[in-house]
Amino acid sequence: MAKILIVDDENMMLRIASKILSKEHEIICASSGAEAIEIFQREKPDLILSDLLMPEMDGYELHRILQEKSSEPVSIMFMTSDDSDESESKGFEVGAADYIRKPLKAEVLLRRVKNVLDKIDKIQDLTEAASLDLMTGLLNKTAAQREISKLCATSQGVLALFDIDEFKLVNDLYGHAMGDKILIRFAELLRGMIRSTDLAGRIGGDEFLIFCQNIHDDKIIFNRAAFLNHQLIISAKNFMGEEMNIPLGTSVGAVFVPNEGRDFSMLMAKADKALYKVKHHGKHGCAFFGEEISTDETEHKNISQTQMILSERNHEAGAYFIDFEKFKAVYRFEARLNDNLHLPINFLELTLETDNDDAREDFLELLIKNLRRCDCVTQYGRDQFLIILTDTPPEKVDSVRRKILDAWQAKKLGGEITFESGKIF
Ligand code: GH3
Ligand code: MG
Repeated sequence: MAKILIVDDENMMLRIASKILSKEHEIICASSGAEAIEIFQREKPDLILSDLLMPEMDGYELHRILQEKSSEPVSIMFMTSDDSDESESKGFEVGAADYIRKPLKAEVLLRRVKNVLDKIDKIQDLTEAASLDLMTGLLNKTAAQREISKLCATSQGVLALFDIDEFKLVNDLYGHAMGDKILIRFAELLRGMIRSTDLAGRIGGDEFLIFCQNIHDDKIIFNRAAFLNHQLIISAKNFMGEEMNIPLGTSVGAVFVPNEGRDFSMLMAKADKALYKVKHHGKHGCAFFGEEISTDETEHKNISQTQMILSERNHEAGAYFIDFEKFKAVYRFEARLNDNLHLPINFLELTLETDNDDAREDFLELLIKNLRRCDCVTQYGRDQFLIILTDTPPEKVDSVRRKILDAWQAKKLGGEITFESGKIF
């Protein structure tokens, strides 16, 4: 049932039109343009059926004023006893949906109104479809930018930019269709964590944007990001199997509106900076522009998250072997945890002097086997091996060193091992 506002200065006409249309629609009446404007703003009708010639304000003027006040197109049909073709074509020119002559015939009026309402529905469907990202059902890039920039200009809250971590690996290891499945799931999780007054859009391959209204506490966003990270892993394992060891997650850069401004491009640039910071501090986390990456309980969540990444990435027993670049990223991340939380994280540097290449390979294998899954190993150059011992107090480092030496001596492959150790930073 559509809501129709009928406007006519003649009471008789109002009664006739309203009697015909009330069989199928909800009707509101106004006897002047001024009254119609007031009712329109309050009631937001789907369609206006207005007399064309009225004293003080005619139908064209009414339409023009309503259109000026509304951000959506205003649907209006004109009724008139003036049967000159000229006024009819002017009606269409100013954007009237239809034009109907008095005296009104019931079935003609009902049919014409139905046609116009059908057309409005179709336009709404098309407009909606043109605003959506087909794969995820969230707003597409254009619509997200348009709608969220409006909220940035008028509301307060948080603008947050999300990028999935290590998403390319899903495509590479499990195929593009699995990548799509992860994107769809991520969008569902995102939609589930915002309210109906908030907005969410997909603005790039694995990039998403949300605006959450009336949030002034960064912890709410930190918690949501942690929840999303947790749920994403659960879903990914459901889809790809428990053995899936891609460290999927999300990095989030956020900014408070209007504290950091109201201009959308500026706010996006700030959110992007914060996101970049998270990407370079180990990913799987959230940062607000202008704030240090948090050191409170979220940090603790991040620690367990990193430990989870490290142990998840490696289902074999033993340490996680990574290339030097990744090692540096883990090193930086753990160094920050160490600084902020004084966690016992230690670093070992070993050099094996030998001319035997096979022995070097055996040595690496031995290191991996003799360390824990949350420890990290990399080879630097030919002879150097670097190790991060997560959650290991300094007094334990010596026993790790002993264990490695004993295991190596038992192999009787020769070569000389030297150790450097130290707390990170
Ligand atoms: P990082 O952790 O640094 O964010 O790296 P990443 O592996 O997540 O990769 P990045 O964000 O740089 O790139 C996103 C990738 O998403 C690139 C592209 O191959 C892939 N991609 C983009 N659109 C789609 C899509 O619609 N479906 C699928 N399956 N993959 C997509
Ligand atoms: Mg990514």
